[in-house]
Amino acid sequence: EKFKEGLTKTRNNFSEKVNDLVSRYRKVDEDFFEELEEILIGADVGFETVMELIDELKKEVKRKNIQDPKEVQDVISEKLVAIYENGEEESSTINMQAEGLTVILFVGVNGVGKTTTIGKLAHKYKEEGKKVLLAAGDTFRAGAIEQLEVWGDRVGVDVIKHTEGSDPAAVMFDAVQAAKSRQADILLCDTAGRLQNKVNLMKELEKVKRVIEREVPGAPHEVLLVLDATTGQNALVQAKTFKETTNVSGIVLTKLDGTAKGGIVLAIRNELHIPVKFVGLGEKMDDLQGFDPEKYVYGLFS
Ligand code: GDP
Repeated sequence: EKFKEGLTKTRNNFSEKVNDLVSRYRKVDEDFFEELEEILIGADVGFETVMELIDELKKEVKRKNIQDPKEVQDVISEKLVAIYENGEEESSTINMQAEGLTVILFVGVNGVGKTTTIGKLAHKYKEEGKKVLLAAGDTFRAGAIEQLEVWGDRVGVDVIKHTEGSDPAAVMFDAVQAAKSRQADILLCDTAGRLQNKVNLMKELEKVKRVIEREVPGAPHEVLLVLDATTGQNALVQAKTFKETTNVSGIVLTKLDGTAKGGIVLAIRNELHIPVKFVGLGEKMDDLQGFDPEKYVYGLFS
């Protein structure tokens, strides 16, 4: 239900247009597909993905000899799910260690919702009975440490921090030691997100990762790239940049509730081959959901 609610804007935008299209056409022809193409691109599904989808749809329409535009609607849902899954194993779950510490690193540019996502996940894992610790690795942005502490207080988990401007790798070192000695189950690590200085940012991320790797064999177990759905195609560009320099294992797409262009989920998966693991559907503690492609696609129509 939360999921559906969060998709209201996208659904209204998308299904209204598709319904209107379907009711205006008597038969499925080139013009029909062209209009559908525009609707999909308008929903930020992404050019490549739209082309692939239209191609698949045309084939299916021919194969099943579909004449009635209304029947195409079901095929659209089916194909959207298929394109999302794209023959890849569904891997939206977090690589949680059965024993010992799981370390999750969060990367992404400022303002996308990194801190909020860490707070929400801390809440989720705490509710599951796990011992959670946060690492204030964004020592660059003014206020970032305090903001993480606000979430820590709200959720009731501790934050390991140094002062603003200090070395993030040193923060990570301390955080990992604290997590080990307190026998924490999960360490959620914030990082700085200034993309203006790409080279430095990437160097910093690498250094942070090296410290974690050295202190906890096999860690970080996940590197989650946080992207803001309302930035549309720009989110895709950010994802490409991060993918080039860091081993991103999954995506958290925030603010899906704030956009009518939720099609970006499909573009990210189809063009980057990185699974979307969580979606943010609001600003509150429990406004984070595991991503389920079927629920998502069917949520766009119903
Ligand atoms: P950071 O700079 O990446 O750490 O971003 P923040 O966590 O500070 O988030 C930036 C703003 O986005 C804040 O006002 C958050 O409340 C808001 N925000 C984060 N996630 C979501 C979401 O899923 N939905 C909505 N509507 N707002 C969000």
